[in-house]
Amino acid sequence: MTQHPKRLGIFGGSFDPPHIAHLALAKHAIAQFHLNELRIIPTGDAWHKTRTLTASPHRLAMTRLAFAEVPQAVVDPREIDRQGASYTFDTLQELKVEQPEADLYLFIGADQANAFKTWHRWQEILGLATVVVAQRPLDGQGGMASQWHNAVSPDVLRLDMPSLNVSATEIRAHVAQGTHADPKMHAWLPAAVQHYIEKHSLYR
Ligand code: ATP
Repeated sequence: MTQHPKRLGIFGGSFDPPHIAHLALAKHAIAQFHLNELRIIPTGDAWHKTRTLTASPHRLAMTRLAFAEVPQAVVDPREIDRQGASYTFDTLQELKVEQPEADLYLFIGADQANAFKTWHRWQEILGLATVVVAQRPLDGQGGMASQWHNAVSPDVLRLDMPSLNVSATEIRAHVAQGTHADPKMHAWLPAAVQHYIEKHSLYR
């Protein structure tokens, strides 16, 4: 019997906090691409974000809580543990060395796909992993980004998942405004993450 190569997914983000669209993306990624494992990788010093992120131990703890229900998801702290700027390229290169037999799949949302050509060594990323893009409603663009496929590369694949209009930015704003008891918050956040945010008074 021939052995199929391991299919290893990579899904990075600031996860500040992790929300239901992240979970939905992960579950659809695993199902659609028959992943043996999906590494969930919270960013460390996110070079492309201007905002100061919540302390990484909190983001790591919330990410672990959020993805605990997904057996194939493994939360990987390597970017948080890394000194200095942290790049997806470095992460993929490390994983390729650690698991040379594996086929790598990198999952990103449409907003990240639009910014992909600003990523450090983006062309080499396309050589290390198959990039898969999930649709996402984009602010100020009157609907879905539909051109991102070709915009990045013809090799980029599309993840089929329902479009979910939720963002960590909106969740943080809700908590800051004291509307964390809003029923929307239940819909947007895994319960364990919502409890964690309340317990540690995050985003106030
Ligand atoms: P923020 O609002 O703080 O920028 P975010 O909600 O975009 O956060 P991130 O942690 O930055 O969340 O996202 C991690 C990854 O998940 C990115 O590739 C992003 O495009 C993707 N993603 C986040 N929200 C959605 C969504 N609603 N639909 C599809 N993909 C999403």
